Amino acid sequence: MNNEDYDIETLAVRAGISRSQFNEHSEALFLTSSYLFNSAAEAEARFRGEQPGNIYSRFTNPTVTMFEQRLAALEGAERCVATASGMSAILATVMGLLAAGDHIVASRSIFGSTVQLFNNIIGRFGVETTFVSPTDIGEWQAAVRPNTKLFFVESPSNPLTEVSDIAALAVLAKQLGVKLVVDNCFCSPALQQPLSLGADVVVHSATKYLDGQGRVLGGAVLGSHQTLEGVYGFLRTAGPTLSAFNAWLFLKGLETLKLRMDAHSASALALAQWLESHPQVERVYYPGLPSHPQHELAMRQQRTGGGIVAFEVKGGKDAAWKVVDSTRMISITANLGDAKTTITHPTTTTHSRMTPEQRANAGIRDGLLRVAVGLESIRDIRNDLARGLDAL
Ligand SMILES: *Cc1c(COP(=O)(O)O)cnc(C)c1O
Repeated sequence: MNNEDYDIETLAVRAGISRSQFNEHSEALFLTSSYLFNSAAEAEARFRGEQPGNIYSRFTNPTVTMFEQRLAALEGAERCVATASGMSAILATVMGLLAAGDHIVASRSIFGSTVQLFNNIIGRFGVETTFVSPTDIGEWQAAVRPNTKLFFVESPSNPLTEVSDIAALAVLAKQLGVKLVVDNCFCSPALQQPLSLGADVVVHSATKYLDGQGRVLGGAVLGSHQTLEGVYGFLRTAGPTLSAFNAWLFLKGLETLKLRMDAHSASALALAQWLESHPQVERVYYPGLPSHPQHELAMRQQRTGGGIVAFEVKGGKDAAWKVVDSTRMISITANLGDAKTTITHPTTTTHSRMTPEQRANAGIRDGLLRVAVGLESIRDIRNDLARGLDAL
């Protein structure tokens, strides 16, 4: 099918399908580590890259390829390479695009393991990272050095849902000859398409909304053929590639992505509005609320405010823990992007490795809670939070 002729709902269900000799209707799961050649000459041609086709599942696998093509269609990307997890997508991006002596400018508000990866792992190989404000483009410009090769941003951010101006960052990156990488995990292509805003690379943790049902880990890197050549080369050689089984689950997850994201978003907006009017809530962070500092930008850049709501309760950590411990239905877990609503207390879990000063600078206070709104009824989600909030 010609992807340009179809809407995102259709691409999510039909893009990327290739059928075997059995003409199966649903996408097949190919559990094979290697592939046969019909002759010595064919083996040689395959290895030389003169004849297309599979060799070994660390290089390519038909089920993984179907997932890659479907996600590429949804993100509007020339190419997608799938990875074993979101973190290996980010690792592969860095290993594919950078060399010792290069420099990264990254938003301060990115996933904790990404900060660890930049500081403690690739930092050891001579790639330095400077962290800047997600919302002040002047800080990005000021942090640039002659050896800067990569901008890295996540929007909206976790847990405070700060929104970065992707199009403005892309203009700056282009002027400087720097590649802009966007972690599109929180929005998914159903809500935001960073490549169409000028970004060079999109990375995903497919573990979150792309699966949407909390089953398996996976990731992906998307961009132009040229940009992704080195990323693919790293994956094929080093091996943190996606398993066929996980790709098969993600293919099915993508079919309902748009429906799920719309439902997550509608409930998140309703929850955010209710929380904003609750007397025990100090402040609500949700890009879909007019009170959000980047509300207009968010509504230009994203289709909805997304499925994640953060809010600060009055009374600090004790009050926040009381709300968490008063839930009977919502899952107390650090994961997000699941059909099941989850609640997290960032300062004692996901952001506990930051020093109190770092957290204060980032605006992550002890009363803050993050809810990743699931697909249960909004009435039940609200009631589960009201039990703790009303008792404060
Ligand atoms: C979870 C997450 C990652 C890492 O993905 P894994 O699949 O857990 O490796 C990266 N970025 C963001 C924004 C995430 O939420």
